[in-house]
Amino acid sequence: MARPFSVKPRFRLFLTNTAEFRDLTTLRVGGSISDFREPKTRAELIETFHEVSSAREPWFLLGGGSNIVVSDEPFDGTVIRVVTQGIDRHTDGDRVLVTAQAGESWDALVEWTVDNGLAGLEALSGIPGTVGGAPIQNIGAYGAELADPFESLQFVPPGRGDVVTLRPDALNFGYRHSSLKHGLDGLVVSVTFALTPSETSTPIKFEQLANALGVPLGATVALADIRRAVLELRASKGMVISDDPDSVSVGSFFTNPVVADELSRQLPADAPRFPLRAERSPLVFPLGVEPEFVDFDTEPTEVKLSAAWLIERAGIGKGFSLAGSDAAVSTKHTLAIINRGNATADQVLELARYVTIRVHDTFGVMLEPEPTMIGFD
Ligand SMILES: Cc1cc2nc3c(=O)[nH]c(=O)nc-3n(C[C@H](O)[C@H](O)[C@H](O)COP(=O)(O)OP(=O)(O)OC[C@H]3O[C@@H](n4cnc5c(N)ncnc54)[C@H](O)[C@@H]3O)c2cc1C
Repeated sequence: MARPFSVKPRFRLFLTNTAEFRDLTTLRVGGSISDFREPKTRAELIETFHEVSSAREPWFLLGGGSNIVVSDEPFDGTVIRVVTQGIDRHTDGDRVLVTAQAGESWDALVEWTVDNGLAGLEALSGIPGTVGGAPIQNIGAYGAELADPFESLQFVPPGRGDVVTLRPDALNFGYRHSSLKHGLDGLVVSVTFALTPSETSTPIKFEQLANALGVPLGATVALADIRRAVLELRASKGMVISDDPDSVSVGSFFTNPVVADELSRQLPADAPRFPLRAERSPLVFPLGVEPEFVDFDTEPTEVKLSAAWLIERAGIGKGFSLAGSDAAVSTKHTLAIINRGNATADQVLELARYVTIRVHDTFGVMLEPEPTMIGFD
């Protein structure tokens, strides 16, 4: 017998929780969620992910919501918020392997390592979000990145219930990049880091941080001093979540563009440039062929530019906004787009597009957004 109406929507109406992305993201934009789940334990998380990713409905894994821009339209699918807790350690020769569950706060993990005399994560203090969200774009700051002390992560592919271990060779970490951000879908269950038992930090690789501490680049200082200095520097830029209105953002909205050396030479002389050495494959010469001299220093290299410099020099200053919009450039840092209170996701994107076009028209350089965009065409 034909049913007069589909039972599924009614079933859903009574048995699922709803939520709003704007309440779950640091930029405070995004529409309603028709099916919101928050499994508490690791086993429940894996089981829920298996069930949801086996169905034909859209799904999304949410951590701290600090690196996503979500459309204001309703999300007609299931959102699983990862909140699993727990940090374990065990000694492995002269290193300590620390495993944190995906729902742990990233900064709480860093604080725990500093308090426990374990070096390796200290320069990544104050980055919002969860442990599970951190490897997605290989978080980085102040000359450090997650990939440096990364050992492995536990992962569940969609539609499966078994947990696999992924090591760096499967993840292709790069500058704000990993396979997880670009194509490898699935649930990060936990992440393991190989840390060094030490009260002093790994060598400082970032000039601004060295200056703040009054030490030369490459120096090591107490872990707690690095953490304090990084948190202060970040707060001065609106880059820690606090009651500062400039922290209502996704952090940097754009990545620093990496361009060919020739293009970077066409920019004004004072444009900051950070040459990157491309990885070279080993040189192989057939037997009997005399190898020619290769001058690596004259080989073309890629150069990382400062997106903040490009934006400012394209005429977009701190605090800039478009008429009638509540989205604005942060008053502390031109790389961040903030929600001044009632911004819509469309207003955020409109401003981001405007910034991108201004930089492109002025310098011929295309800025790329850093956060993941959800629900836009
Ligand atoms: C004020 C501020 C400052 C910031 N500073 C920095 C910085 O210095 N350096 C930096 O790199 N980033 C920075 N960020 C960006 C952001 O904090 C990081 O990228 C963070 O790691 C995102 O984690 P999350 O848990 O919030 O992920 P979400 O924003 O919730 O999700 C981001 C992506 O990860 C996926 N994801 C989340 N959890 C899982 C999981 N368990 N398994 C599989 N996929 C998952 C989501 O599906 C989504 O695609 C900043 C953000 C803010 C708001």
